[in-house]
Amino acid sequence: MSVKVMAVNAGSSSLKFKLFEMPAETVITDGVVERIGLEDAYFTIRVNGEKKKQVLPIKDHGVAVQMLLDALISEHIVNDISEIKGVGHRIVQGGWYFDDSVLVDDEVIRKIDELCDLAPLHNPAHLIGIRAFMNALPGVPNITVFDTSFHQSMSEESFMYAIPYEWYEKYHIRKYGAHGTSHKYVANRCAALIGKPVEELKIVTCHLGNGASLCAIENGLCKDTSMGLTPLEGIPMGTRSGNLDPTVVSYICNKLNLNATEVVNMLNKKSGYLGVSGVSNDSRDLEAAMAAGNDRARLALDIQYKRIADYIGSYYVLLGGIDAIVFTAGIGENSPRCRQQVVRRLGVLGVKIDEEKNNVRGEEILISTPDSKIKVFIIPTDEELVIARDVMRLAHIK
Ligand code: ADP
Repeated sequence: MSVKVMAVNAGSSSLKFKLFEMPAETVITDGVVERIGLEDAYFTIRVNGEKKKQVLPIKDHGVAVQMLLDALISEHIVNDISEIKGVGHRIVQGGWYFDDSVLVDDEVIRKIDELCDLAPLHNPAHLIGIRAFMNALPGVPNITVFDTSFHQSMSEESFMYAIPYEWYEKYHIRKYGAHGTSHKYVANRCAALIGKPVEELKIVTCHLGNGASLCAIENGLCKDTSMGLTPLEGIPMGTRSGNLDPTVVSYICNKLNLNATEVVNMLNKKSGYLGVSGVSNDSRDLEAAMAAGNDRARLALDIQYKRIADYIGSYYVLLGGIDAIVFTAGIGENSPRCRQQVVRRLGVLGVKIDEEKNNVRGEEILISTPDSKIKVFIIPTDEELVIARDVMRLAHIK
């Protein structure tokens, strides 16, 4: 039987959605509500391939969800709301509680709420999104899909920080990682493209978007990942610094007369590409500035490429070799220069890419040469599809 399933990503003032026809996995529509809570909020929805946009006041997430459901009817995307048999929600922080997606009940809500402390910008917004759909579609199952659950297979030596042990026991300070849904999806696609079970492969996945993380995967499970307690750890990103000596925080607090929260905010929002280049947080702007001779734009990119290569080198040792490297997300899928510059730094591992094959954007393709010791793939990620599949699996929709 064919059913409709909604994948939702609720932020503090936004709500992104994608409606799937399952099990065919076709996208029926998608869109976003932004600036929720403001007078000039807007709502976009794709109708027959075209984006329709309305600017209007939207009081809260409940209003946004009702507007979306009304639009599905008025635009003849569904005949009746009862055609929607399940809703899947992306959740940033599942902490130590969730190593898989789950069907929402009171206990799940209580745990996501408890974890708000670790994801203060995201988890409260996700809960608002879940409640809005529960109210609007009573009786329809809601499923939560956690960015962190794929990383729960890390061993203690990978997820622990070398800090006073009580901080871990009392405050749960450890690595949780992020982008797990994406890492898992592209690793499984990679195995399918190679034609071997994922359990027989050692894969490093590079999710390079505005936020960026790498993952070392063995037996289809995460062995290590570059993001930590929060998405600030790891490689430099659009506006995030990635790893640095924590002493920088207290040093700059003193120099600029700021508190630690303010400095960490700057490491999250004013660093990375933007901080080093002074140009932009967008890789396209940096590549254009660099081509026009801007050395700081070049440097911002080079720092990131070097750190990506550093991680891949360390994962080569951790995994005892690598069968395949996968590039995904905005930059990984669309920047031939990024892939070329990272692979160039991995020469000692015998990785080679075909420059012509690499010169593509957003295609699922093998770009390494036949004699490369490691296969290199571009695999566009699809987190919403994973969410829709998990709804089918966990809500037992046949
Ligand atoms: P997020 O989902 O984390 O917000 P994305 O995965 O959309 O981020 O990635 C955003 C990044 O992808 C930006 O730096 C942007 O420049 C880059 N990107 C998107 N399209 C292209 C492109 N065609 N060429 C180069 N970079 C691109």
